[in-house]
Amino acid sequence: MTHWSKPALPIETEEAGETLYMRPDGSIISQSRRFYSEEDIGRIRAGYCCAKCGEGHDIPFPAACFGCKFPMHDLQAEYLAKWYQGTVRLGSQINVDDELEEAARVVEFERRQRDGTSPTQIWLPGGD
Ligand SMILES: [Zn+2]
Repeated sequence: MTHWSKPALPIETEEAGETLYMRPDGSIISQSRRFYSEEDIGRIRAGYCCAKCGEGHDIPFPAACFGCKFPMHDLQAEYLAKWYQGTVRLGSQINVDDELEEAARVVEFERRQRDGTSPTQIWLPGGD
């Protein structure tokens, strides 16, 4: 049974600075990546979990996240579209579902190397 209001917890989080990201304007920023389970990604995409802090909500896309005040209703879809990066193919214009498929392929590759679980991969800007 899915508990929609529980927070989305990253399976793994990289330290800030491990990953460099190029913004559309060409500037380079360093970020931490967060890896969520497929279920949690589904809940984030459905608006039940905050894309920024993972806080869970009973109602999808509330006006503001209880945890971090992120304006989920107005900005979460846009935020995901902008920041969801299933793979290292930064700045691609393909849609999120395609990214999820690509992420699954990357994860399968990594799984062979790490012999761990096989999470769907997402990475979003680090906290602050
Ligand atoms: Zn939040």
